Amino acid sequence: MSAIEKVSCLIIGSGPAGYTAAIYASRANLQPVLYQGIQPGGQLTITTEVENYPGYPDGVQGPEMMVDFEKQAKRMGADIRYGLATKVDFSGGLHKVWIDEEKEIHADTVIIATGASAKWLGLESEQRLNGFGVSACAVCDGFFFKGKEVAIVGAGDTAAEEAHYLSKLCSTVHMFIRREEMRASKIMQDRVKNTPNIKIYWNTDTDEILGQQKVEAVRIKNNKTGEKQEIPIAGFFVAIGHQPNSDIFKGFIDMDEAGYIKTIPGSSKTNVPGVFACGDVQDKNYRQAITAAGSGCMAAIDAERFLAAQGH
Ligand code: NDP
Repeated sequence: MSAIEKVSCLIIGSGPAGYTAAIYASRANLQPVLYQGIQPGGQLTITTEVENYPGYPDGVQGPEMMVDFEKQAKRMGADIRYGLATKVDFSGGLHKVWIDEEKEIHADTVIIATGASAKWLGLESEQRLNGFGVSACAVCDGFFFKGKEVAIVGAGDTAAEEAHYLSKLCSTVHMFIRREEMRASKIMQDRVKNTPNIKIYWNTDTDEILGQQKVEAVRIKNNKTGEKQEIPIAGFFVAIGHQPNSDIFKGFIDMDEAGYIKTIPGSSKTNVPGVFACGDVQDKNYRQAITAAGSGCMAAIDAERFLAAQGH
């Protein structure tokens, strides 16, 4: 067992929220330690072009942007480490966090920036064939299905963006939408509808993904008529939204019914003094890189003020 480490500001998570908190906390001389989690850089590392982040007039690739965030945080002096927070205990005045189930950290302040993860449909076949044709990231895995037929489920901006991305690589993209309208923004809907090799199926549920060793087909069901249909495909992409990565904080931090951490409006403060939350783990509404970064800045300032009030 390694010795307990004492830090004044611990940041958990490495998306735009975590890195921005690290930049501000470093500049405020809080000597922050940031643990990156299982997906260093967060969700933007599985995105292609980011066109709406101010300051990049020509757009930027998501992974490249996160490398820039990390570099900037490091340059300011943040201590950035690999490792996953696996347990916490916020029941006392000292905030205890365990990294990779062994290393114990005692932090005066904790900034939670753990983001959100992709949701799955919950089919047995989806789990069994995950990595064998089933994926929640078109940008990561689309390349493997070059020239082939694939399917995607979902009707939000992510699904629309990913369907469009896949249409440039694959021969046909079958898009399954459970209602008779899409949730995606108008511009993304138009893009999908005007792409000839994206075939939209309305009122359609995924009944089963078929294949033994790898995805070979999908069986869909029209939820109005009950009619079933099998379509041969090589890849099946799930793009139905996200859930907050807040499991380890349950019982210590107030959350809503979906697991999003509650913060005091207009601040990053949670119900636990000295624990702050920023980014997608506390935001089911905006969920943008720029809003995550802004809230990371708020969390660092809140942590700094908390420490100052404690006489640090
Ligand atoms: P959303 O929650 O917006 O959409 C999820 C979609 O998946 C909905 O259409 C929903 O259907 C569908 N869905 C959910 N569960 C199931 C299921 N079990 N079976 C079939 N379909 C299902 O998630 P997104 O990830 O698309 O977007 C999240 C946020 O990020 C949004 O605010 C979005 O605008 C934003 N975003 C912005 C981008 C940009 O600005 N460039 C790019 C990507 C995302 P239903 O509509 O019927 O509920």
